[in-house]
Amino acid sequence: MDFTNLQTQYQLYKNEINAEIQKILDTSSYIGGESISRLERGLEEFCNSANAIACSSGTDAIILALSALGIGAGDEVISTPFTFIATAEAIAFLGAKPVFVDIDPQTYNLDPSLIEKAITSKTKAILPASLYGQVCEMDEINAIAQKYNLAVIEDGAQSFGATYKGRYSCTLSLFATTSFFPSKPLGGYGDGGAVFIQDEEMAQKIRSLLSHGQVKRYVHRYIGMNARMDSLQASILCVKLKYFRDEIKKREKVAKNYTQALQDLAEYVKPPYIHPYNSSVFAQYSIYVQNRDELREALASCSIPTAIHYPTPLHLQEAFAYLGYKRGDFLVSENVSKHILSLPMSAFITEEEQNEVAEKIREFYSSK
Ligand SMILES: *Cc1c(COP(=O)(O)O)cnc(C)c1O
Repeated sequence: MDFTNLQTQYQLYKNEINAEIQKILDTSSYIGGESISRLERGLEEFCNSANAIACSSGTDAIILALSALGIGAGDEVISTPFTFIATAEAIAFLGAKPVFVDIDPQTYNLDPSLIEKAITSKTKAILPASLYGQVCEMDEINAIAQKYNLAVIEDGAQSFGATYKGRYSCTLSLFATTSFFPSKPLGGYGDGGAVFIQDEEMAQKIRSLLSHGQVKRYVHRYIGMNARMDSLQASILCVKLKYFRDEIKKREKVAKNYTQALQDLAEYVKPPYIHPYNSSVFAQYSIYVQNRDELREALASCSIPTAIHYPTPLHLQEAFAYLGYKRGDFLVSENVSKHILSLPMSAFITEEEQNEVAEKIREFYSSK
């Protein structure tokens, strides 16, 4: 069994993807080719964003958004300790200070009721992550940001394509970012990402920043980066974007099947909770389980791959030791990190495979 089924997906779109790659090779237009703007317009149209700007990775997308806001040394940015490290790493990389607040125990996303207490005179922005494919509580977060004049950046690395109250992830705040890492719901064949901006001036600035702060050839207004997406990645993503709506529907069906198949194990297994006003793209199908590590081993022994997103909350990572947090500071995150388990998830996992996963989980708990 495969955790993400990337090969199955490739085989399905192979002819189109190969043709797109060949087109790039035939034109030698490797940087800034037409596939970049084709992808950007496609992304904008997909989610109704004023601007989508392709870049080198989801991590660089966050760095670009923070840079465009001028965030750096002396500034604080409020974020979640329960996410992939890139979210807070981008803040720290620019010399600003990540300030963590705990997550909601149902959705595992940033708990908006804890944000206000963490705001200081140095706070410049709130950077929530929309974990596992479900958008975080953007209305509440935006309202707090407005009250304190803060920027909001949605880390939508796992949620591009998801909706919140009928609107798309990555269009719900001034800035949002996503990732096209191969295993994300919309993944390329290498690193890639995008910044979404609802403001024209800021969009211009991001475009400059990702190419050495350049405004015209060899005219540099800002200290920037080399954070461009390459034309090959964009061309591959253009093909995959065409099928993305259909794949999202399939992922939703897969999630529903899992939830149904695990229903009778409610004592041991808590399926993902999705708010009625949200639709998730299920970047992960993560269950909250008892005896997590033992279950994981039992599944591995039947060749069922699983993953843990994430085993150590960020405030307990060595890289963030300098922030001075300690065990016990974010109890919900710490608890979830010990119980969360991601099951094989893709648009292409079969019902038989899903049933096998559920059956093995049932066998494991029946021996408890
Ligand atoms: C994957 C991911 C990132 C980083 O994306 P890359 O493209 O790998 O740099 C950032 N935040 C979250 C929540 C992610 O899952």
